[in-house]
Amino acid sequence: MIYFEKVSKIYFDNTKALDEVTLKIEPNEFVSIVGHSGAGKTTLIKMLLAEETPTEGNVYFGSLDVHSLNKKKINKLRRKIGTIFQDFRLLPHKNVYENIAFAMEAAGKTDEEIAADVPHVLELVDLPKKAWNFPHELSGGEQQRVAIARAIVNQPDVIVADEPTGNLDPLNAYDVVQILKKINDLGTTVIMTTHNKGIIDEIGKRVITMEDGKIIRDDASGRYAI
Ligand code: ADP
Repeated sequence: MIYFEKVSKIYFDNTKALDEVTLKIEPNEFVSIVGHSGAGKTTLIKMLLAEETPTEGNVYFGSLDVHSLNKKKINKLRRKIGTIFQDFRLLPHKNVYENIAFAMEAAGKTDEEIAADVPHVLELVDLPKKAWNFPHELSGGEQQRVAIARAIVNQPDVIVADEPTGNLDPLNAYDVVQILKKINDLGTTVIMTTHNKGIIDEIGKRVITMEDGKIIRDDASGRYAI
């Protein structure tokens, strides 16, 4: 379980990005976080990844108190969380296979494990024929699917997707969300921030709405309400 306990974040310039946020996310949930730009969505995610520290409050990942961990344990925590971003963040000079293999090497996997698992995740994101292409040879939707393959290849407990469809047209956005739903069905928790009203309504799962650093709605099978 992920638990934010009265988490506040005031940045150095006095911006209050989070205001006493309390939030529980159970294993295997699919949670969409919505809200206008500046509402605090990315800051919330950075707290979970230990990229920012709370000014007040605590963040727990299972039994781990995220902000009491040393550097080594933070790295271990981050391996339990796969990340996907709006701008894909693939390595431009590596092909698809190498992009995914690189993430496995960083996690200490052997060449045999890499050779077995990369084709498997490419199958899962429907890109079995693109292993030898470079990112610039792929559409935005395909690049994001490679990024998803990379995020799941080390079998994290949680996938965090920060505006994963922000750079995609509606059809590609739909495909990306279908893949995230499939990954969720296979047992991975998914936490996604988005502005995309259409996909929220299509997912039909929990929707948390943020405004001015606060959670103003939390709907179990919600719709985009702002
Ligand atoms: P969202 O992801 O919902 O757009 P953010 O979490 O990025 O919101 O930002 C919440 C608020 O915190 C905004 O007012 C933003 O300008 C501010 N903010 C975000 N990051 C920083 C930072 N590193 N330093 C100062 N203010 C920041």
